[in-house]
Amino acid sequence: MTFDISKIARSNILKLEPYRCARDDFKVGVLLDANENTHGSALTNPSSLEEDLELNRYPDPHQIELKQQIIDFRVSESKQDKQISNELKGIETPITPENLCLGVGSDESIDAVIRCCCKPGVEKMVICPPTYGMYTICAAVNDIELVKIPLNLSTFQIQPDLIADQLANDSNIKLVYITSPGNPTAVKIDSELLFDLLKKIETIGWNGLIIVDEAYIDFSPIGSSVSVLVNKYPNLVVFQTMSKSFGLAGIRLELHPRKQLQT
Ligand SMILES: *Cc1c(COP(=O)(O)O)cnc(C)c1O
Repeated sequence: MTFDISKIARSNILKLEPYRCARDDFKVGVLLDANENTHGSALTNPSSLEEDLELNRYPDPHQIELKQQIIDFRVSESKQDKQISNELKGIETPITPENLCLGVGSDESIDAVIRCCCKPGVEKMVICPPTYGMYTICAAVNDIELVKIPLNLSTFQIQPDLIADQLANDSNIKLVYITSPGNPTAVKIDSELLFDLLKKIETIGWNGLIIVDEAYIDFSPIGSSVSVLVNKYPNLVVFQTMSKSFGLAGIRLELHPRKQLQT
């Protein structure tokens, strides 16, 4: 087993004590300790929906209920369709709320993973162009050098050999961003190629994260998501978003299954 979170996350991040907010301790009752406004929100004539949202209160910091609803939705969806794709059948494992991290759109999560894992001015990340533009912007903001390993330009598939060679030869690379289905290519990355890459990184003992951005996964057959593999492959992180298939770009919500981190 090569996965070693202490070699992946930055040491300042590993040292953090989680911030405890008032909502960690109490969610109901008389809540006086968080300096929320007890008179309600300042919205004029709020609708009953807005009242029910209790926008004057800080939200549940762990969002367990929402995470469970998202998982239940995905499970019922794949049961109805009865078609987890053949390549993933038999190796998928259940996802629990502890696997999920909700972000303010995938764009926040792209940035957050870079900030947690890559030392500015020193460490690097791989992208596979042609691909989504935000990886480049977040890398630049965080002062992280980009290593570009293009997709095969006749198939728009990743090139696991080239990626693994690069990872083996450059110990400063911490992350690999893969978009599946691709933007702008619309091609889903072949799971066999992804398995090949995951096996190769295990062989070379690379300690970093393979991030599969599945912003468009709902436009592929149900059962295509590799999120069901995050508990099998600890180096695998998967991004999904409510912005595209769910038509909810305005709420800025993203799902981010990954193995629960253990130090
Ligand atoms: C649109 C898009 C995103 C970002 O979506 P959010 O609205 O920030 O969740 C992420 N990745 C890809 C490939 C996209 O096309």
